[in-house]
Amino acid sequence: MIPVASPRIGFEEKEFVLSALGAGELSGNFGGFIPRFESEFAQFCCVDHAVAVSNGTTALHLAIAALGIGPGDEVLVQTFTNMATAFAVSYVGAIPVPIDIDSKTWNINPALIKERITSKTKAIIVVHIFGHPVDMDPVLDIAREHGLFVIEDCAEAHGAKYKGKIVGGLGDVGCFSFYANKIITTGEGGMVTTNNSKLAATLRSLKSLGYGTGKTKFNHDLIGFNYRMPNVIAAIGCAQMKLISENIEKKRWIAAEYSVRLRRYADLQLPIEEGYANAVYWVYHINLRGDLSGRRDAFMAKLKACGVETRESFWPLNKQKVYLDQGIVNEIDCPVANDVGLNGLYLPSGPVITLNEIEIVTSAIDKAICEV
Ligand SMILES: *Cc1c(COP(=O)(O)O)cnc(C)c1O
Repeated sequence: MIPVASPRIGFEEKEFVLSALGAGELSGNFGGFIPRFESEFAQFCCVDHAVAVSNGTTALHLAIAALGIGPGDEVLVQTFTNMATAFAVSYVGAIPVPIDIDSKTWNINPALIKERITSKTKAIIVVHIFGHPVDMDPVLDIAREHGLFVIEDCAEAHGAKYKGKIVGGLGDVGCFSFYANKIITTGEGGMVTTNNSKLAATLRSLKSLGYGTGKTKFNHDLIGFNYRMPNVIAAIGCAQMKLISENIEKKRWIAAEYSVRLRRYADLQLPIEEGYANAVYWVYHINLRGDLSGRRDAFMAKLKACGVETRESFWPLNKQKVYLDQGIVNEIDCPVANDVGLNGLYLPSGPVITLNEIEIVTSAIDKAICEV
């Protein structure tokens, strides 16, 4: 079976982890790899501050909490995303409000944002889906006009660029994941990026229980969390930073190889790269349309029979049972995301995939298209 993703581990991960273990620097409280990973990642994202955390979901929760968003507030969320994006809003007692996507990029459609703004709206969360950057200028204009924070969910988009500027520093705060299938990985891990020094200090305090900075450490400044990234994990992150540019090049190569073989099929909608974008193609995502529309299960089963693993698209926020039960979303609200949610899937796209494997995948697709 050709897997949808498998991580690429370099030469130095083991050495760095052993060095952290040898030094007895295991936890998230001290050790050289944490500040090193943070500073290398900040430099990579061209931001002033990067705060290492336990995963991408806690990165989002921490960012939202640090911005002071809380019960009763509303946060506009790109409906087509990993539900971690919306859950992070729910964790602070705020309400995620789904916004539909653009049919070409599958990213938030900025033209639909204004109509959902109310007096309770505090922030917009954009998601650079599958590594294609969001059209940020219209989003930032609306945010400025209405006094809203902009949170970038960059979990799939390390190194992606919008108009030449790298994601993570385009809004108020950026949130990254280093889960096993992301652009680089620490197994589980995350990072929060910002250019705002005051916000960075709050993020640092909140991620570590809000320990007191006054006379006693144990008289806490804030009701904080323990979202620290352990130093042994940051060691893996430091080694992975050496691979990040190559991984992105590889992802772009994978996308180009798939696209050249699949573009003759009118019933397959392939990923595009807008003029403003340098995409990192976290996964190669396609959408079935025309005669293939509504036949995703059969299509995926055919590929599986040929030894090709695929994964279905995200189920949009506006159709999640947990939120329908709360009565805060409406199933029919986001027709574009609803279509992609039913007809989208992604192909094997891991950084260790070979040209031969890509050819096996596209031959399997040739066969599936004839037979489905
Ligand atoms: C992976 C992902 C997350 C969650 O990251 P974890 O590290 O798995 O918690 C959040 N948002 C998006 C868009 C993701 O793809």
